[in-house]
Amino acid sequence: MAEKTVVKASNFVRNIIQEDLNQGKNNGKVATRFPPEPNGYLHIGHATSICLNFGLAEEFSGVCTLRFDDTNPEKESDEYIQSIKQDVKWLGFEWHEEARFASNYFDTLHGYAVELIEKGLAYVCDLSADEAREYRGSLTEPGKDSPYRERTVAENLDLFARMTAGEYADGEKVLRAKINMASPNMNMRDPIIYRIRHIHHHQTGDKWCVYPMYDFTHGLSDAIEGVTHSVCTLEFEDHRPLYDWFIDNVSCPSKPHQYEFARLELNYTVTSKRKLKQLVDTNAVSGWDDPRMPTISGMRRRGYRPQALRNFCDATPVARSKGITEVGRLESAVRDDLDSHAPRAMCVLDPIKVTITNWPADTQQTLTVPAHPKDESMGTRELVWTREVLIDRADFAMQAPRKWKRLAPQQSARLRGGYVVTCQEVITNADGEVLELLCTYDENTLGKKPEGYKVNGVIHWVSVEHNLPVEVRLYDRLFNDENPDGNKERDFTECLNPESLTVIDTAYAEPSLGDGEVGQQYQFEREGYFCIDADSSTDKLVINRTVTLRDSWNK
Ligand code: ATP
Ligand code: MG
Repeated sequence: MAEKTVVKASNFVRNIIQEDLNQGKNNGKVATRFPPEPNGYLHIGHATSICLNFGLAEEFSGVCTLRFDDTNPEKESDEYIQSIKQDVKWLGFEWHEEARFASNYFDTLHGYAVELIEKGLAYVCDLSADEAREYRGSLTEPGKDSPYRERTVAENLDLFARMTAGEYADGEKVLRAKINMASPNMNMRDPIIYRIRHIHHHQTGDKWCVYPMYDFTHGLSDAIEGVTHSVCTLEFEDHRPLYDWFIDNVSCPSKPHQYEFARLELNYTVTSKRKLKQLVDTNAVSGWDDPRMPTISGMRRRGYRPQALRNFCDATPVARSKGITEVGRLESAVRDDLDSHAPRAMCVLDPIKVTITNWPADTQQTLTVPAHPKDESMGTRELVWTREVLIDRADFAMQAPRKWKRLAPQQSARLRGGYVVTCQEVITNADGEVLELLCTYDENTLGKKPEGYKVNGVIHWVSVEHNLPVEVRLYDRLFNDENPDGNKERDFTECLNPESLTVIDTAYAEPSLGDGEVGQQYQFEREGYFCIDADSSTDKLVINRTVTLRDSWNK
């Protein structure tokens, strides 16, 4: 089946790179990087950044490195590193050579710090954190020079060596860049370059007790790796002068440029690793890969295919102006992608029993039907027609409204892939609840229209004897407020949607689902797209609803 082609949205970074290439900059090379901090699982915002950085490298025959900016060992872990690698690969990208770690460059970075000291551009400062805050000034007031600012080069070299050797406690001293305490840009007011942390690092072990700050590490790591276009989000715009200052003042091997774009913000969604971690830590969700989470692992488990995320990212403009993207656009990309890739199947979520009274009890018929109505290459699947079947309660009405296309007393409907049946009798309990339908089938209707009467409705069904009991997990949006983060008076967890998960454990699926592996997607006709969850056991399949067939929020 022909794929829907996705028109790539405007992307100002692409234009800049094209212009740089036209002018022969960087010897015609393009190198980008994706630089996550391994302090959580990646989310949909990161997917944008991954598609952007790896996508640009691909488009311009350049390279893209994966670099873990691991300067905060207390918040980082190998679990996060492994999950990030898995997510990048799952999206279908390959990073250049081995994955890098900023910590691979700690020796070099330490050397750059010493170089800054030697040039009189860095000094060891003994102000406490509180004092330093006071000296820093504010947006409206300039800062004041630290009393330690005029230490000699020799003294600074000695103190920094002793910091590095572990002679001081955490927080006792820091190394700061000597830039300008009166700068209108707060980031330039003698920012910290190194701080003391007596802590084990997941990559470098106990080798270091001083760790470089993010701003210092990030740009210089770009320079060490020969990154040409360092793309980040707008919060770092004010950090760019500092990014350039470090690169201009040490003898690093290249001069990358930073470009900022507006981060992806989705309505009804939180995209901050810290907040997502809070949901995990407080058991508001079942884990980082809970299918309601906007994490890449959550979306994978939910049944999104990587191509859907890539299509969504490609169709989202890369711009400098901030905006909020409708989460409905993501869901719509998922539907478009699954429509062509998900085989069809039947599953009855809320069953009523139907007895086909003119079908003999000891007879069954195997029906072979296409797995996908428009794609023969997906092959066929088998259904078993028996005297007793189940249909969905929603497909029957005691009093059919006008133009009702499903089953009702004395009305006919086709059981998908099988015969036309007519409802002859309804068995109810004392409360009027429907317990069973007695129907007859028309033997001349398999694969053909009935003669002498018209049937509009086609409903899904499964055999009572040949089905698989399944647990179906229906997901709705995790937040019921369009902007969960938008109200400062309230914690974002207050607008968690209490109905974001509904578990149905009375559902029955057609036997073909027994061949599906974990992650296999299906379209259950009229219900939506579903996939097999990893919680499935040999006794019971667990099925996630990936997305409904239509956007029910956009009424
Ligand atoms: P978070 O706030 O969730 O922790 P972060 O920006 O601190 O996000 P990093 O691990 O530092 O997370 O990010 C790696 C890369 O992903 C960075 O280049 C960052 O700019 C980018 N990124 C993070 N969130 C988004 C987003 N919502 N939209 C686009 N890019 C993003
Ligand atoms: Mg961060």
